[in-house]
Amino acid sequence: MNVSMNRSLAAAALLALAVAALAPTPAPAQPVATQAAAAPSERVLRVGERRLRVIVENPPSRARAEELQRWLAECARAQLTAFDAFPLREATVRIRLVPRRGRDPSPVPWGQTQREDGVSVLLYVRKDASGDELRADWTAVHELAHLFHPFLGDDGRWLAEGLASYYQNVLRARAGLLDGEEAWRRLDAGFRRGRAAGGDARMDEIGWSRASTMRIYWAGAAFWLDADLSLRRERGRSLDEVLAAYSRCCLREDSRSAPQAFIAALDRAGGGGTLARVYARHAAMTGFPSLQADYAALGIDTEGEALRFSQEPAAVRLRAAIMGPRPAVALRASADGDGE
Ligand SMILES: [Zn+2]
Repeated sequence: MNVSMNRSLAAAALLALAVAALAPTPAPAQPVATQAAAAPSERVLRVGERRLRVIVENPPSRARAEELQRWLAECARAQLTAFDAFPLREATVRIRLVPRRGRDPSPVPWGQTQREDGVSVLLYVRKDASGDELRADWTAVHELAHLFHPFLGDDGRWLAEGLASYYQNVLRARAGLLDGEEAWRRLDAGFRRGRAAGGDARMDEIGWSRASTMRIYWAGAAFWLDADLSLRRERGRSLDEVLAAYSRCCLREDSRSAPQAFIAALDRAGGGGTLARVYARHAAMTGFPSLQADYAALGIDTEGEALRFSQEPAAVRLRAAIMGPRPAVALRASADGDGE
């Protein structure tokens, strides 16, 4: 079971919910919302033979169910900007509406990806979250990015959370849910949080440590940015392309892998040894990685919390190759049972 905690900085009031969600018994089955006035809404999004089933468990009305389905389809389109296909043959997203907890303003206070009996993403969505608030939130796209990798266990948590944290910004920028420069700023803000977290364990020994959460997420994201840039520079291909090839050859709903075996599989799928080398360097790090060379290639200068973007053509091209807008992939949607 891969459970990924997102709002680690969010209100402690959510911890009760979190603990319920993390209980070893499968799926926290108790809806926290009090009443469901409409039947659950179920839709299947298809690209080729691959399907993403989206269930709104407890919509108060059909109109609200429609709004949530539209939002999730937009997040799915963002996921598809990686390689124009869903990473898995079959996956499910469950949206559960919950009341606002205390003062926590998060429109999606909790999300997790479960790998039991298939792969499912569970999203707790605040009952009164507006469409605009949901579109501005990163949680759903983060969780969908977890579907790019197999279950990696505690040892590979930094790779899993790093991949989802990198792509939550990349995918949203490409889909127009986030401005490209803002996406770089958010990535950089994450790196600053990770750097500020300190810590001295090697990345490949950091495991599941609550105290190291920010380092796990953002040193992990720094690894994938470094890996993406190294692939582009040394192999003339992107991380998207390598993940696509891996998804076709090797990724199944029940895939599990040790961290190094996953990296080796990505290298066989097109990384050609580049990823193993970048992995070895990052895995041994006891501090936050320096991103100086990466930022120089990207033409990004930092001034405190502000970023300056160079207009040098190679840097502009590289930034656009990662964050630039992508055309939407044709996505077929149907109510469950239609057209099957
Ligand atoms: Zn996560």
